[in-house]
Amino acid sequence: MIPFNKPPYTGNEEKYVLEAMRSSHIAGDGMFALKCQEWFEKRLMCHNALFITSCTHALEMAAMLIDIGPGDEVIMPSFTFVSTANAFVVRGARIVFVDIHPDTMNIDETLIEAAITERTKAIVPVHYAGVGCEMDAITEIAERYGLFVIEDAAQGMTSTYKGKILGTIGHMGTYSFHETKNYTSGGEGGLLIINDERFAERADIIREKGTNRMQFFRGQVDKYSWVDLGSSYLPSELQAAYLWGQLENVDKIRQARLKNWHYYYEMLADLESKGFLERPQLRDDAEHNAHMFYIKIKDLKERTALLSFLKENGVLAVFHYVPLHDSPAGKKFSYFHGKDNFTSSQSDRLIRLPMYYGLTQNEQGKVVEAISRYFMQ
Ligand SMILES: *Cc1c(COP(=O)(O)O)cnc(C)c1O
Repeated sequence: MIPFNKPPYTGNEEKYVLEAMRSSHIAGDGMFALKCQEWFEKRLMCHNALFITSCTHALEMAAMLIDIGPGDEVIMPSFTFVSTANAFVVRGARIVFVDIHPDTMNIDETLIEAAITERTKAIVPVHYAGVGCEMDAITEIAERYGLFVIEDAAQGMTSTYKGKILGTIGHMGTYSFHETKNYTSGGEGGLLIINDERFAERADIIREKGTNRMQFFRGQVDKYSWVDLGSSYLPSELQAAYLWGQLENVDKIRQARLKNWHYYYEMLADLESKGFLERPQLRDDAEHNAHMFYIKIKDLKERTALLSFLKENGVLAVFHYVPLHDSPAGKKFSYFHGKDNFTSSQSDRLIRLPMYYGLTQNEQGKVVEAISRYFMQ
C-alpha cells in the first residue's frame, strides 16, 4: 500500500528529543522552543512568532486578540478545515462564507466586499494547498473597512505571494505543525505569527493562561498574576525539539516535495490532454510549497469510483473538505453569502494524491499508472 501521508522525519529529531528529555526543562518555552522562535522571527521578519499547541489554538488566540464576541461576523471560504471557522465560533462569532475561485480553491476576493456588514470584524483568507490568496485585494478591502486580516496559512509555510511570505501579510497569520503538514513538531503543533505590534504583549498573556508570567520572567513586573483571558497554549519542550530537527532541514524538505509535485505534474499531462482530469494550475505571482498535489475529475460519482479503484490497486488517495456551510454545525453558526457557484461543485471533484517527504518516484509511478488504468479500462 502506498500511504496518503507519512509524517516528515529527517533524522536529527530523535537526537534532539532525547536531549530535551534528559534536560531539566521539559515544559514550554525551553531552549529548543527559543531556538525555533528566533529562527521564525528572523526568517519571517515578523514582530513575534509564538509556538502554540496547534494551528486551531493559534486561530483561537487570534480571535481573542481581536476581541471577537457574540454577533461579530467573520468572512472566510466554506471550503476549508473546520478550525478556521470554529476558532471564531467559540468566541460567539457568526461565520459568513463566500465562494471560491475554481482554479485555486481560494476565497474569491471580488465577492468579499458585498458580504461586509456593520458587524463584520475580520477576513480570514485560507491559503489552500500552500498557494497564496489574492492578498493585495484583500488587504485593500480590509483597510478601507477597518477590518482585521487573519491568514490561515496552516498549509503555507515557506510559500510566498508576490515575494511576501504567507502568514506575514495580514495582522496575524497561523501555521500548523500537524503530522499531515510539510513540517511537524512531533504530530501536533502550530505557530501564531504577529505582524502588528499592538497584539504582541497581550498575546504573551493569553498564551500563558491569562497571566503576565512572561513579563515576570523578563523582570518587567515583580510578581505574576491573573490579568486577562487566556488558556494553556504552550507545547512541551519535546515538541520544540522535534520541530528544531525539521527547521534545520527546512529547504531540504521543501525541495524534495517540490520535486515530487513537478513529477506528478509532468506524468499527468497526458491524461489531462485526453480530457480525463485537470491538474492544479501554476501561478506566477504565488510560489507554493508543494503541500498538496490534487487532481480534479468529472464529478462526485467518478470520484467515488476512482478512489475505490485506487485503493484496490494499493494507492491511498483521499478527498476533503465537505464544505462547512453544508455541515450540521455550519448550518447553525454560519451562512453563505451570495451564490455557491464553485464551492460545492468543485470540492466534489477533488482528489488528493499521496504526497509526503520521502515519497519515491517509483511510488509516484505506481500512483499515476493506477490512475491511467482506471481511465483506460
Ligand atoms: C491543518 C489545518 C488546520 C488545523 O491545524 P491543527 O494544527 O491541526 O490545529 C487549520 N486550517 C487549515 C486550512 C488546515 O489545513
